[in-house]
Amino acid sequence: MAEIGIIETFKARHGQDAHEHNFRVEVILEGEVDSESGYAGGIDHYDVILDIKKIISTIDNKNLKEILNGLGFKSSGNESIATFFLNKLTNKYPVKCVKIWETDERYATVYSKE
Ligand SMILES: [Zn+2]
Repeated sequence: MAEIGIIETFKARHGQDAHEHNFRVEVILEGEVDSESGYAGGIDHYDVILDIKKIISTIDNKNLKEILNGLGFKSSGNESIATFFLNKLTNKYPVKCVKIWETDERYATVYSKE
């Protein structure tokens, strides 16, 4: 079994008081190393990076409270942001978990259900 980790950054506001962070999203995929491609889960991580960047382009420099509340999330906390990314990636990739870091000292991790 192998893991691939991809980290990207974005800036956004969240919370009741709409405070801003330079967030870090960390996406961890897991899979057996594929004997044909040599990649974990047969996945080229550049595809994953492009998809993460696409998701970020919809929320970068925006207010996550408005976006996430509009999607039915109860909060715009780090768990909700992680779930937002997980929901968009999990049908396409074997995602183990998504971590959202709001500072270097504070993060939330949401694991895929399977
Ligand atoms: Zn915060």
